[in-house]
Amino acid sequence: MAKVRKLIRISRGIALRAPKTPQMIVYKEAGSLKEQVAKRKLYGKTVGFVPTMGALHTGHISLINASRKQCDITIASIFVNPAQFNDLRDYEKYPVTISNDILLLERAGCDILFIPSVNEMYPDCTGSNHHYELGDIEFLLEGKYRPGHFQGVCLIVHKLLAIVVPDFLFMGQKDYQQLLVVRRLVKLYQLPVKLIAGSTSREASGLAMSSRNLRLSDEQRQKATGIFTMLQYLKCNLAFAPPRDLEDYATNYLLNNGFEKVDYVSIADANTLQPLSSVLPHANSIALVAAFMADVRLIDNLLLGV
Ligand code: AMP
Repeated sequence: MAKVRKLIRISRGIALRAPKTPQMIVYKEAGSLKEQVAKRKLYGKTVGFVPTMGALHTGHISLINASRKQCDITIASIFVNPAQFNDLRDYEKYPVTISNDILLLERAGCDILFIPSVNEMYPDCTGSNHHYELGDIEFLLEGKYRPGHFQGVCLIVHKLLAIVVPDFLFMGQKDYQQLLVVRRLVKLYQLPVKLIAGSTSREASGLAMSSRNLRLSDEQRQKATGIFTMLQYLKCNLAFAPPRDLEDYATNYLLNNGFEKVDYVSIADANTLQPLSSVLPHANSIALVAAFMADVRLIDNLLLGV
């Protein structure tokens, strides 16, 4: 009998022991985060950084996974950056799902999360006299329709990089122009970080995952798949028609398939984003689109090279 009781005690002990999952540490203040990261770097740990604006989805988590594969420590940030919104209503409507975000990051094995307040990142208001020399790319496509957007992006990425000082910065190809702009920022300031581009995560329907999709109804979400259908059409038909004709066709396709407004469809050089008048086989080209499903602005792109 005593033997049996002992067994039960042991098995209870085992059952009660919670599986050891290292806890994610959350920082709200830049100073404490900086101190902590510097300490860990002293031990030779490599740091991967994934900046986000929250309302996380599988696309964000794919960047966390990439960082975990490559680095000893993975740090994510959640900050809806007012400086990169040219439209105040868009900023105010940006989805916030912080408890779920923390859960997703913890499950994905993120080590550190930085959630600063606006005051922490911009103690002197969002205004900055600093101007980043980004060249033409600042004014094309997103830059044309969202004036000042990339200055705001550079401002926050530069600030975050100064706090986190990561070895690797993970960003998504979903925001292709942003990727090129940040690449330029890194080069301009010779920042000691390697920028890694993650491929776009899509729903089974082809719709690129985006925090803004949360604002779509089921019906709108279904219609929004038209963007990917159209991008694939462009890729398949590149050899058969001039880029301008294809762009016009694509714009009309979107307008006839539930999109309210199309800011641009562009077939462009994948390095400069300058529009292409013809596409040579094997050319490094990309199709990019921004269109409104009701009042939700969606962007997507597809590399067209083989
Ligand atoms: P955001 O929170 O929208 O600022 O995005 C944070 C990072 O996640 C950026 O580097 C985005 O390019 C990236 N990202 C957003 N959507 C996706 C996606 N569907 N697949 C992969 N990366 C994404």
